[in-house]
Amino acid sequence: MDFQPSTRSREFLQRLRRFMHEHIEPVEAGYLRDARALNPDGDWTRWQVPPRMQELKASARAEGLWNLFLPDAELGAGLTTLDYAPLAEAMGRSLIAPEVFNCNAPDTGNMEVLHHFGSLEQKERWLKPLLAGETRSVFCMTEPDVASSDATNMQATVREDGDALVLDGRKWWSTGLGHPNAAFAIFMGLSNPDNDRHARHSMVIVPLDTPGVRIQRMLPAFGEYDAPGGHGEVVFDQVRVPRANLIKGLGDGFAIAQGRLGPGRIHHCMRAIGAAERALELMIERGLARTAFGKPLLDLGGNRERIADARIAIDQARLLTLHAAWKIDAHGVAASMAEISAIKVVVPNVLQQVVDEAIQLFGGAGVSHDVPLTSLFAIARALRIADGPDAVHRSLIAKIEIARHQKRNPPA
Ligand SMILES: Cc1cc2nc3c(=O)[nH]c(=O)nc-3n(C[C@H](O)[C@H](O)[C@H](O)COP(=O)(O)OP(=O)(O)OC[C@H]3O[C@@H](n4cnc5c(N)ncnc54)[C@H](O)[C@@H]3O)c2cc1C
Repeated sequence: MDFQPSTRSREFLQRLRRFMHEHIEPVEAGYLRDARALNPDGDWTRWQVPPRMQELKASARAEGLWNLFLPDAELGAGLTTLDYAPLAEAMGRSLIAPEVFNCNAPDTGNMEVLHHFGSLEQKERWLKPLLAGETRSVFCMTEPDVASSDATNMQATVREDGDALVLDGRKWWSTGLGHPNAAFAIFMGLSNPDNDRHARHSMVIVPLDTPGVRIQRMLPAFGEYDAPGGHGEVVFDQVRVPRANLIKGLGDGFAIAQGRLGPGRIHHCMRAIGAAERALELMIERGLARTAFGKPLLDLGGNRERIADARIAIDQARLLTLHAAWKIDAHGVAASMAEISAIKVVVPNVLQQVVDEAIQLFGGAGVSHDVPLTSLFAIARALRIADGPDAVHRSLIAKIEIARHQKRNPPA
């Protein structure tokens, strides 16, 4: 095992940190204020992107700090999962940096799907504008009417009708659905009900302006709409798209999803580690600067122990995540499922714990918009559900562990 990033990764990291320090950190709080002021409620039809985002994206692109997540050397930076990990961590310190560098979910996962599995026509029409940061995309898997942590429950349908596919169903928690530049969704639905459980579903590209696509509402997460992207509920009512919008083949949805989620979970977790580092830094600064009972806050009660525990937890989480990244690069996603599930349990919990302690040390300010802690807390809490709840990942780890045990110790 060698977690040392390559020289190229270190160079990118230096340039990325400099860009963030010079261009993003000075404007981030103002940008978030503007985004809240421009988009005061859940009426997605009026949502706008503060103009500064386009300027920041143009600068990042001009400096070559663009699509760094994509392992393809021509279209992206050509970095391995392990080499990209420290860059994702750096971006995770900021609530807006991932989008500035065109490295934000769910677009990254959708770009990977189209890059690996899309037809030439799909790449030209849908992937190219996403890679250029001109459009945004949505991933529609979760459904309100079924327990979607068991994705085989999905009951929205994909039906063949001549040269068309007809889609029906209701999806929710579709991240990015309200974004003014959201152009299409990757819709996952039941197409082959008689196949094996993991070969029943298909992925289909649906332009969001297709007749029959109806956005019902945006869903607040902890009271915040996360405009201008948000998370929405959307109905697909006899939506007809050309058969050419099918990604790979009928019944291939799960095979595609597995490839999409492996590196994507490394990205989520490394960004969460960056967020935890930021929360810890804020906590230390506040604890040194503010005094109560004649002492800096950090010297009161168990606050120093809390700092130490946060440092230990973050470093453990990072090592576990780098190990999973290394294993994906060395042995592939299929061989790394237990490691990927392990970080998906550990890292959001670490972030949640660290942010919770930071909020506590900030007192009332901690739950205001003056510091980004409530947003970081919401990210952590939601991440313990999104992309598979903790319990589902734990059950997968246990299944793999027990199978390994039984292989080593076959019944007599
Ligand atoms: C902020 C946010 C963004 C999201 N973005 C997207 C997106 O872009 N696209 C998309 O398709 N979805 C998205 N999701 C949805 C997310 O992936 C689902 O919410 C998740 O998969 C869980 O499905 P569910 O909500 O139906 O929960 P359910 O399946 O109803 O599960 C609820 C609970 O049941 C328990 N449970 C389930 N299985 C087990 C088990 N095996 N053992 C023990 N307990 C268990 C767990 O406590 C679990 O949390 C997002 C969610 C959030 C909160």
